[in-house]
Amino acid sequence: MRGINQQSLRIKVSFLCETEVEVGISGQCYLYTNTYFLPSFHFNLPTINAFLLPHTSFLAPHLFLESYLNCPNFAPMNLAAELDTSIFHLISEASQKLNLKSYVIGGYVRDLLLKRYSKDIDIVCAGSGIRLAEEVARMNGRDTSVTVFKNFGTAMLKIGDTEIEFVGARKESYRRESRKPIVEDGTLEDDQLRRDFTINALALSLNKENYGELIDPFDGVKDLKKKLIKTPQDPDVTFSDDPLRMMRAIRFASQLGFDINPESFDSIQKNKERIDIVSKERVTDELNKIILSNPPSYGFKLLFYSGLLEIILPEMVKLHGVETIEGKSHKDNFFHTLQVLDNVSKESDNLWLRWAAILHDIAKPQTKRFEPKHGWTFHGHEDLGAKMVPQIFSKLKLPLNEKMQFVKKLVRLHLRPIALVKDDVTDSAIRRLLFEAGEDIEDLMRLCNADITSKNYDRVKRYMANFRKVEKKMQEIEEKDKLRNFRPALDGEDIMKIFNIPPGREVGVIKNEIKEALLDGLVPNEYGTLYQYAVNVGKKLGLTVNSKN
Ligand code: ATP
Ligand code: MG
Repeated sequence: MRGINQQSLRIKVSFLCETEVEVGISGQCYLYTNTYFLPSFHFNLPTINAFLLPHTSFLAPHLFLESYLNCPNFAPMNLAAELDTSIFHLISEASQKLNLKSYVIGGYVRDLLLKRYSKDIDIVCAGSGIRLAEEVARMNGRDTSVTVFKNFGTAMLKIGDTEIEFVGARKESYRRESRKPIVEDGTLEDDQLRRDFTINALALSLNKENYGELIDPFDGVKDLKKKLIKTPQDPDVTFSDDPLRMMRAIRFASQLGFDINPESFDSIQKNKERIDIVSKERVTDELNKIILSNPPSYGFKLLFYSGLLEIILPEMVKLHGVETIEGKSHKDNFFHTLQVLDNVSKESDNLWLRWAAILHDIAKPQTKRFEPKHGWTFHGHEDLGAKMVPQIFSKLKLPLNEKMQFVKKLVRLHLRPIALVKDDVTDSAIRRLLFEAGEDIEDLMRLCNADITSKNYDRVKRYMANFRKVEKKMQEIEEKDKLRNFRPALDGEDIMKIFNIPPGREVGVIKNEIKEALLDGLVPNEYGTLYQYAVNVGKKLGLTVNSKN
């Protein structure tokens, strides 16, 4: 029995739908909402239409679509109520005026059925998509702007927050060396066939005679119910034509928590090398969407087992595997990394923090040693890992700006908080870390916390307890010293004035000594004290104080 879990209403509803519908919660035949308690339901399908549909407002709003999804016999499906908005009626009228048929298609329809509201609408029509877009814009009023992409035969219209893309139904054929198809006019079904997955090939009619009717020649609804990513035609054709679809398959599986059907998955394994004809930017776009899905480890396992990960991010695959010497094994750093990634993802949607989790141990394979006394060590993996970040970012065409610097910093510092878990840790060591991490200290602590994984529960508990102690100490010192946006009260300009010297090595030396003294807590951060301190250091360097001061 499958169901939905609606947290807002705290209900769990399941439908068994042959000739009857049964509504139950936790195995009982009751439906709870926060305001209503309804005893056992047994409905036949006409009753659903007559009684339940008009009352969607007091019942769980998603109930009825779910009921349709779970009713294999319920066809044809009409979702006119879902298309009862001015935009769709406008497109419908414009199509009628131009005497052409139009349909909502693709992601919007899929998301409607899954109740994931999407802002972008794709419209396909039998005829010119550009003409239809222009007509809709005209009817909507003068200030509606249309962007026409003549080369692609598409047009985009923005109404309020909604972006609507128009395209004429088309048939596509591909050449082996390119993922750019040769396009010719086609029927709605041709157009549905060129779509990547059955769940992305659903169309809803905007035509008067069957407004809202679902057109689903490839059983997309059935696959939505089965939570399955499947290609509408032979997967070898779909994936070989446009290999980006392999990444999209895994991305949708990861975003929606769906399976990929076995034939399609086998075909991804078979066609994986063809990912090379896709631009890095497009691949990375999909990879980032996988990273942002929850839990991201699922998408990564699909990438790993399909063989795609080896091609797009081989450094990560090198983390896989366990070596044993003298009965001592290290952990599998690939699966450990995935767990760290899932752990940070529970705490944060920040793509770059997630990237830091992916890359935090990336240099472990290169730094791995077996030392008979200590077992496995990975000395220096944090520094080498940080050095690898710009190379990996550049290869994947990720930004090389402050986002990359952030990831690099977190990889470099990821061991530091846990190294502070010693009874004799000095305030100075904590101050130094706060200073180095600066504004990113919270994210660093999140990463470090997420990095505490072990199969041994007691060990994790012990580490966590120690970790909390470090956190507390950090808070105390941060409150006292305000190190986050830390700036010495006396800067390089001041030093140059004090000694009347130009910029140069001496200024750097004095600045550094001041910073060290501050971090060691030897001097307070006040101008007068730092002035005196600078004078003393300068004297040692053979400098004299400018008499004009
Ligand atoms: P999302 O917007 O969440 O990424 P989506 O399904 O809307 O999901 P888009 O990239 O916006 O994805 O594409 C819209 C529709 O166009 C898809 O639902 C699918 O029908 C079709 N489509 C997009 N890319 C491809 C492709 N590479 N091959 C075949 N069909 C595609
Ligand atoms: Mg979309």
